[in-house]
Amino acid sequence: MDYEFPENLRLMRDTARRFVKNELEPISQQVEEEGKMPESVVQKMREMGFFGLSIPEEYGGMGLGTLGECVMNEEFGKTNVCFRSRFGTNNGIGSQGILIDGTPEQKEKYLPRIASGEWTAAFALTEPNAGSDAASIQTKAERKGDVYLLNGMKHFITNGDIADVVTVMAVTDKTKGPRGVTAFIVEKTFPGYSVGKIDRKMGIHGNNTAEIVFEDCQVPAKNIIGLEEGRGFVTAMKVLEKGRITIAAVCVGVAQYCLDASIAYSKQRVQFKKPICANQAIQWMLADMAISIYTARQIVYHAAWCRDQKQRVTQQAAMVKVYCTEMVNRVVDSALQIHGGMGYMKESPIERIYRDMRLFRIFEGTSEVQRMVISRELLKD
Ligand SMILES: Cc1cc2nc3c(=O)[nH]c(=O)nc-3n(C[C@H](O)[C@H](O)[C@H](O)COP(=O)(O)OP(=O)(O)OC[C@H]3O[C@@H](n4cnc5c(N)ncnc54)[C@H](O)[C@@H]3O)c2cc1C
Repeated sequence: MDYEFPENLRLMRDTARRFVKNELEPISQQVEEEGKMPESVVQKMREMGFFGLSIPEEYGGMGLGTLGECVMNEEFGKTNVCFRSRFGTNNGIGSQGILIDGTPEQKEKYLPRIASGEWTAAFALTEPNAGSDAASIQTKAERKGDVYLLNGMKHFITNGDIADVVTVMAVTDKTKGPRGVTAFIVEKTFPGYSVGKIDRKMGIHGNNTAEIVFEDCQVPAKNIIGLEEGRGFVTAMKVLEKGRITIAAVCVGVAQYCLDASIAYSKQRVQFKKPICANQAIQWMLADMAISIYTARQIVYHAAWCRDQKQRVTQQAAMVKVYCTEMVNRVVDSALQIHGGMGYMKESPIERIYRDMRLFRIFEGTSEVQRMVISRELLKD
């Protein structure tokens, strides 16, 4: 693995770093308090190309590989993570099914609009009765001539309230278990599609998750990803596998932000007539944070690089997701401790980060599910 990133990636990273610092970070608390982000900022993020980082240049994206996307995600972790969530579904779960398993026509039709950010993309697998056990989804798709009629409900869908196009997993043959699941590209304008309840969440208040309801929703047969029934579960797993690595990269950036804030605070906060960083108890917390971040960054880059080399990364992706999501929760906890009472107050970004990052051990496969994946790989003959 080459540790020297190509010139263009370094330039993109530096541009993203400046954008985060100058445009996003100054409004990050405001966005949290208002529970929405200004459309002008979303437009700027479109102009920066952030909606198409992972989409090939031929479809109008930036054409980054997994490693490149991770390097960028690390920067996006250094501010309110809701900004990354806004365009993250376009780079990740909302586009990758089409990109990995879609037909040339499907890619041609959808990817340019997703890459530009004209359309927001989402991914709808989870249902009220099917979370970790994703193969037990109940949303049905029945063929009627040239269309499928979808019936059912998805919940907790990131950007579900604003999505223009959604990769939806539905059962086309319930006798076949996971092999009876098919992935559909569903546009919000298709008859029978509606947005249900918008969730009230613990964190990431700058963007929403929502229910999506299908009532005889008419989806053209040509919108089956790859045009083949029964491949949807495999497509979903491929999408999630990549997401595990790129989400882990966000955690590295968030943890770095927490460490930097903790170093700065511990140098200026004086108690017992000296800065608190003069105490070994604080120094060791900082050191442990740095060790974890260093370790996490290396495994993210390595797993991303392996994926870019077309290696099978099922186990690595799961390990990286568990390690980095648990790491960032430990790091933000230490950061809050170092900030003392101030870290518990709404004025401090650490308070928000503490809540926001709790999600990362749950979505796109809980820590328990990742450990199931890892142990399955370890124990297989
Ligand atoms: C903010 C947010 C955004 C999300 N965005 C999306 C999205 O865009 N698209 C989408 O499809 N989904 C999305 N999800 C859903 C998310 O992926 C699920 O919440 C997650 O997979 C867990 O499912 P569950 O909530 O039903 O928990 P459950 O599956 O009910 O799990 C509850 C607990 O039991 C544990 N558990 C379950 N089975 C086992 C087992 N066999 N062994 C050990 N422990 C087990 C779990 O690890 C967990 O701790 C989102 C969720 C949230 C909160």
